Amino acid sequence: MKLDPDRPIPPGSTIGIMGSGQLGRMTALAAACLGYRCHVFSPEADSPAEHVAAATVAPYSDAAALERFAASVDVVTFEFENVPHDCVKLLSERVCVRPSWECLHISQDRLREKDYMATIGVPTAAYEKVTGPDSLARAATNLGRPAVLKTTRLGYDGKGQVMVGEDTDPQTAWAEMGAEIGILESFVDFEREISAIVARTSDGHSATFDPVENRHVNHILDTTIAPAPISKALARDAVDIAGRIAQSMDLVGLLAVEMFVTRQGEILVNEIAPRPHNSGHWTIDACITSQFEQFVRAICGLPLGSPERHSDAVMKNLIGADIEDWPEHLSDGSAKLHLYGKLETRSGRKMGHVTRLFSKGSAPAP
Ligand code: AMP
Repeated sequence: MKLDPDRPIPPGSTIGIMGSGQLGRMTALAAACLGYRCHVFSPEADSPAEHVAAATVAPYSDAAALERFAASVDVVTFEFENVPHDCVKLLSERVCVRPSWECLHISQDRLREKDYMATIGVPTAAYEKVTGPDSLARAATNLGRPAVLKTTRLGYDGKGQVMVGEDTDPQTAWAEMGAEIGILESFVDFEREISAIVARTSDGHSATFDPVENRHVNHILDTTIAPAPISKALARDAVDIAGRIAQSMDLVGLLAVEMFVTRQGEILVNEIAPRPHNSGHWTIDACITSQFEQFVRAICGLPLGSPERHSDAVMKNLIGADIEDWPEHLSDGSAKLHLYGKLETRSGRKMGHVTRLFSKGSAPAP
């Protein structure tokens, strides 16, 4: 039965989470602190969220399992946005789904996402849709080189991305990208990458965490510096942009907005994610309300908490073999260690993160 969307979903209720990775795990931990139960649904067994929540392990196409899941939870949310359309549709007909299918739909496809930003007047890198090597060659002429060729769907952490430089052969780049439709984006010679995370409730209240700087290694987030070392005016712009996107999408939940700051001091949106985000992990230890608690509050219709930062923070992802240093992090008095319970260490796999705290204004120069 669908809940009245204007009534809070009270503590004691069960939150259904599609996906069962570390974002689901940290959401379930925050939810437990507020007295909620969580039930995760994913095709993967023994994944991080299953260690801390009830779990259904089934394919996203298993209609009977989805029916049972929908009947056992009070609200459904997502810890990743690439859940198949049919699955979300079925759930939306049975139970309150937050954020809405429309929000997921926009963020599932890079072209749709950039077209949407254009319709609401949010600047992005120049881009063109490409459908094959010839169209890639034309787009590269229009946009100029270097440019970045990306898959429109299911790309993350730089997967499905190819640099198109002066000498790149369109045939080769197209084959390397490996999808039937792509997007070619102008290469942004950015000064830094930042992100802002905004929470929004169904009655339109919102709260945004301080924008942070993100450093990537091999396209994977390596370090987040909170707050971002940028001017107050730029930070305000970043917060405004995140709020504007969330409002125009009528988003209920959390929205992470990744942005480039160009050398001319302009902000361009790169990507949005309607869920908790790796660049918000620092909030667990450095803010009054973490992104995960804020997410739970937003989807359950509770008042939002204060996003105030009580400490500066540097969050470092522990990727692959980085996890072997866990004893060192434990013996560092300023460090808070978070491990995701993944037994198999693989190169490029996010195994945990460590957040170092500093008193406000005293974080080491990045
Ligand atoms: P994405 O998968 O779009 O988040 O891209 C992963 C990373 O690749 C970004 O965080 C940037 O470091 C880099 N990148 C993506 N798109 C561009 C672009 N148009 N220009 C320059 N760097 C980019």
